[in-house]
Amino acid sequence: MPRKLFVTTALPYANAAFHIGHMMEYIQADTWVRAQRMRGAEVNFVCADDAHGAPIMIAADKAGKTPQQFVADIAAGRPAFLNGFHIVFDQWHSTDAPENHALSKAVYLALRRNELIEIRSVEQFFDPDKGMFLADRFIKGECPKCHHLDQYGDNCDNCGAVYAPTELINPYSALSGAKPVLKSSDHYFFKLSDPRCVAYLEQWTQDGKLQPEVANKVREWFARDADGKSALSDWDISRDAPYFGIEIPDAPGKYFYVWLDAPVGYLASLKALLERRGEDMDAYLAQPDLEQVHFIGKDIITFHTLFWPAMLHFSGRKAPDHVYVHGFLTVSGTKMSKSRGTGISPLRYLELGFNPEWLRYYIAAKLNPHVEDIDFNPEDFVARVNADLVGKYINIASRAAGFLSKRFGGRLSADLGVEGQMLLDGLRAPAQALAQLYEDREFGKAVREVMALADRVNAFVDLHKPWELAKLAGQDAALHDVCSVCIEAFRLLTIYLKPILPALAVQVEAFLRVPAMQFADAGRALGAHTIAAYSHLMQRADPKLLEALFEPPAEVPSAAPDPGGEAIAAEIAIADFAKLDLRIARIVEAALVEDSDKLLRLTLDVGEAEPRTVFSGIKSAYHPGDLAGKLTVLVANLAPRKMKFGLSQGMVLAASHADTQVDAGIYILEPWPGAKPGMRVR
Ligand SMILES: [Zn+2]
Repeated sequence: MPRKLFVTTALPYANAAFHIGHMMEYIQADTWVRAQRMRGAEVNFVCADDAHGAPIMIAADKAGKTPQQFVADIAAGRPAFLNGFHIVFDQWHSTDAPENHALSKAVYLALRRNELIEIRSVEQFFDPDKGMFLADRFIKGECPKCHHLDQYGDNCDNCGAVYAPTELINPYSALSGAKPVLKSSDHYFFKLSDPRCVAYLEQWTQDGKLQPEVANKVREWFARDADGKSALSDWDISRDAPYFGIEIPDAPGKYFYVWLDAPVGYLASLKALLERRGEDMDAYLAQPDLEQVHFIGKDIITFHTLFWPAMLHFSGRKAPDHVYVHGFLTVSGTKMSKSRGTGISPLRYLELGFNPEWLRYYIAAKLNPHVEDIDFNPEDFVARVNADLVGKYINIASRAAGFLSKRFGGRLSADLGVEGQMLLDGLRAPAQALAQLYEDREFGKAVREVMALADRVNAFVDLHKPWELAKLAGQDAALHDVCSVCIEAFRLLTIYLKPILPALAVQVEAFLRVPAMQFADAGRALGAHTIAAYSHLMQRADPKLLEALFEPPAEVPSAAPDPGGEAIAAEIAIADFAKLDLRIARIVEAALVEDSDKLLRLTLDVGEAEPRTVFSGIKSAYHPGDLAGKLTVLVANLAPRKMKFGLSQGMVLAASHADTQVDAGIYILEPWPGAKPGMRVR
């Protein structure tokens, strides 16, 4: 019987496009799912937009859209990211879909029948201008501890104090600026402190479904006080109108808090998928051997290890079998944050022509089954792609394929010689162990293992030197065998990397003329088989393009900058300075660059026969019309740089703050009157 898996990634909040952190989670889960399918498992892999809640309602209002239109517009942007990185969900749904409204209400009603819902009066800040209760993040005021102004309702950015919004000094509504008033309202609570819930969760969280470090962390939440009462507290699951969400049955004007209906969206998405296929979700989920697996980030552990399993279990449903938690993605050691931008835009990565499988490979190479942050380091990225992926793996095929097609009509030798056979046996032996590494989410180990195998193949090639055999008389059989071993080895390595590099594997399958490869195919040999002509499979990454990958800041902080923000660089000799050829240039023309929010295209007269084109990141500071005719200074001997928009032949000098996030302006250098185009600055 095939293994049956229902797999999800966390539902992204539908208030913004994906950032690189989302892509890391999707690449991790997609790779795992692909590896399972290559071993014969039947997998349903789903996700959905998390569409509800006050932040979306308010963002939609600001954008002049209905919340439904707002989330539909966000959803319309999703496929570009998912398709772009070969992430294939069987279903992408929305928590605002009818299936989710129905399922959320059904779960709630079952909990109510089980006497796990309680109504209590809660006193809360209310915005009299907007006519709505204010979530903590929409209340601001003076920190009661350090007296910093403009702090949020739940904690202070300055001193880190945590407090209730009612403790803020001079609180005001972040939505209207109005002074909020305290008002009480009935709230609905899920009684997580009920002894049945505590007993169930204490067992569920500690019986191997969670990673050990997660189980240990969760165990602390069950600590009991002197009276033997657990520290688990009841969960407020209602919000008052106006709210974009699902109305609570028998409670007009009360809506489910977004975190109640968000995880139910996993089931809603599955239901939509199965109904599309004419299958029944309840029957599917009732199968005793079905495994339910959630991939999530470390910031949402509480929801997935307490609320979600309890909601499922006490509404008569199957609780998850595994919750796999990953850490965050940092970029060059810097945490991504919403206010500082996300470091790398996944779409910009694709637009610049970077291969999506480079990122899949790099992320896989860094992932392990632990809750650890991983770092995107541009130099490391280029090194791993160029030295390992292309240098060690792709090169095996490119070194052997030419001889095979030119000299042997693409036909592989069936008799590979003792040494070749030993090498291939050594490559086949770890197939099962590699499949297990994927199962265990040890992707980094799997990649290292495959690269060690590639090293063995390359050592074999270097020893037998097919390029020399090709020149010697009477060595045809030896050449044929060596190249055939290489192709068979390349096929085995491709099977092992296929969960990470699905699109490349499809190209390799066409090149080898084999059907879609499974893990079991590692146990068989190609034998006397004819392959197609080799065409180039993968380019190297251009380190110069990496700079362009880092997106401009999303927002500019309002803090007053110091003018420079940068220490003086290390001392240089006059000879170092002399290497720079700086020339006076006349800006003949300045033009906007389509699809670029940073660049202007400058046409410069530097006293040469032909004008030069330079792309300069000064669009935020200068109007094209204000630049034409002005003189400036050009670095004239800088290596030309190929950009998406064309070739940039030099660089115009401009002053700016060290931190591009600080809005201190950009100032082009301009010589005193009398300087002429082409004069050298020295
Ligand atoms: Zn403070």
